[in-house]
Formats: sequence, C-alpha cells, structure tokens
Amino acid sequence: MKRFDYYQPQSLKEAYSLMEKAAGSAKYIAGGTDILWRIRQKAVEPDALISLRAIEALRGISVNGGLSLGGMTLFREVERNPAIADKYQALTQAASLLANPQIRNVATVGGNLCNAAPSADSALPLLVMEAVLVLEGPGGAREVPIEHFFKGPGQTAMDKTEVLTQIKIPKGEPRTRSAFLKVGRLRQDIAVVNAAALVVMKGNLCAKCRIALGAVAPVPLRLKSVERLVEGQEIEPALLERAGEMAEKEVRPISDVRSTAAYRKAITRVLAMEAIKTAVMSAH
Ligand SMILES: Cc1cc2nc3c(=O)[nH]c(=O)nc-3n(C[C@H](O)[C@H](O)[C@H](O)COP(=O)(O)OP(=O)(O)OC[C@H]3O[C@@H](n4cnc5c(N)ncnc54)[C@H](O)[C@@H]3O)c2cc1C
Repeated sequence: MKRFDYYQPQSLKEAYSLMEKAAGSAKYIAGGTDILWRIRQKAVEPDALISLRAIEALRGISVNGGLSLGGMTLFREVERNPAIADKYQALTQAASLLANPQIRNVATVGGNLCNAAPSADSALPLLVMEAVLVLEGPGGAREVPIEHFFKGPGQTAMDKTEVLTQIKIPKGEPRTRSAFLKVGRLRQDIAVVNAAALVVMKGNLCAKCRIALGAVAPVPLRLKSVERLVEGQEIEPALLERAGEMAEKEVRPISDVRSTAAYRKAITRVLAMEAIKTAVMSAH
C-alpha cells in the first residue's frame, strides 16, 4: 500500500485549506470504511487523507420542523434516534440494515452518499424524502437536491474541495409513511437490490408516492413513472402488480459478483410492489 500523510483539521476552514494545498492529490476521510478498502485495493492512491472526524460542525441530528443530519452522522446514531424512527421510518430501517454494528459505529451518512455506490443504502430513503444536500467549500455553501447529486458510480456533483456538511429532510405531510427493503446475499450485506417508498395517504387514496431503487442503474434511481401511476389511486393488488411491472421495465441493471442482471430485474418487480405496500399498510 502506498504511504500517505494524515491530517486531522479542527475546522472546515482548515480542511479546505489543506485540500487546496494538496492540489487534487488528497482525499477526505470520514469513517474510512469505504476509502481505506479502496486504498488497500489500489483503486485510489492519495498522497494525503484529510480526516473530518474532529470537525464539530459536521456532527449532530436536529429534528425541528424537518430533520437535519450533520455530514458526519453515524449510522448507529440514526438507527437509535427515536424521533427519526417515528417520522422517517425508511431511514431508520436503512440504517439498521447497513452492514453490521461494528461498521455502523464508524460509517457516516455523508460517506455513504459521497462514495456514490449505486447500492448505497441511505440514498434511497433520502431520495424518496426529497432531501437537500448542503455542500460547502472555500467559495461558500450551496444546496443540491439529492436527485441531482449522483452522476455515476463513484461520481457526484461535488467539487474536489467541497465537503458534504449537512443533509436536510423536509417535514412530511400528515399521514406520511415510508419503508425500506433490501435483498442481499446475507441479511446485512451490500444490496443486490434495495428500495424505498414514501406515501401520503388521504382517506383510502394515495395522494403522494415516491419510490427509488438501488443497484439497478449507474445511480440510485427514482422511478417517476411508477410514482405517477400510483398517485391519486386506491392501492389494490392489481395496481401494485402494474407498478412492479413498470419498475422492472424501467431499470437497467448489470451482472456482477453479487447478482445477474436478470435476477436484479425480477427482484426489482417484487421490491417495488412490496415497498409501496409496506409504506401504505403502515399508514393505516
Ligand atoms: C464490510 C462492509 C460492509 C458494508 N456494507 C454496506 C451496506 O450494507 N450498505 C451500504 O450502503 N454500504 C456498505 N458498506 C460501505 C460503507 O460502509 C458505507 O458506504 C459507509 O457509509 C461509508 O461511510 P464512511 O464514513 O466510512 O466513508 P469513508 O470511507 O470515510 O469515505 C467514503 C468516500 O466519501 C468521501 N467523503 C466522506 N465523507 C465526506 C464528506 N462529508 N464530504 C465530502 N466527501 C466525503 C471520502 O473522500 C471517500 O471518497 C460496507 C462496507 C464494508 C467495509
């Protein structure tokens, strides 16, 4: 493994300045569960790692109106937060199914998003909840809706010096419920396919539907045609079947070590139906 320098700045300003000085040869490190593995694989070979761990401004969960997570929020903190479990069910479910407790004790939500794996578990609840990501660099802060953040496997809308400082999730309307489901080789493995759905129920009708699937395209994907099909409708078995069929047609999975493309398509159909159904059932 190539040797690298390690810095632990105490503030964002210090982190940006270290990153600017490195002129493209450094990487930020949060929990290190992705990046250290990639360094060992020689997939990336930075001259320096700039740790975000000591930066207090990147920590903390606040629930007032909406929900706000610091970029360095640990999955263990999300999993154990009762206010998140109450209002943002799919996020709690995704956090509790990510890897294992040892990984969840160090892995961050910011790291999961910035790593930009098509299978990233936190991406799907945050897509259906229409989260906004705050990206901050030496030039200031900007807000990017999560839908525009992922550009391809391992690629995001961030500049090299920018840090994902905050994840903002708007307050849901009354009777908003969400669900996250995941199929992996083992229960807490990286997903073969994962899915999240969010619904707002008005009487028996589904007034709003959001659905997103992972590991079936180069980026975590929202399925807007399925959302349009379901919105304004009563959720019945025939409608769920059509939603599943439509989802299967929309995705473009690949075959890799975890699964064949054909199996991923078949699972997409089932998970799309089940995610919507689970969210709707929890609303009653
Ligand atoms: C055994 C094992 C099992 C795993 N299982 C799962 C799983 O089930 N589901 C899943 O989704 N993932 C899984 N992962 C992947 C990984 O644990 C997660 O993606 C994790 O959330 C990464 O977070 P981290 O804090 O460790 O990121 P790091 O490894 O520290 O960083 C990842 C990337 O993001 C960048 N980065 C990190 N934070 C920021 C920030 N705030 N601003 C700008 N850039 C940043 C880094 O430069 C790096 O490129 C697994 C990993 C392992 C080793």
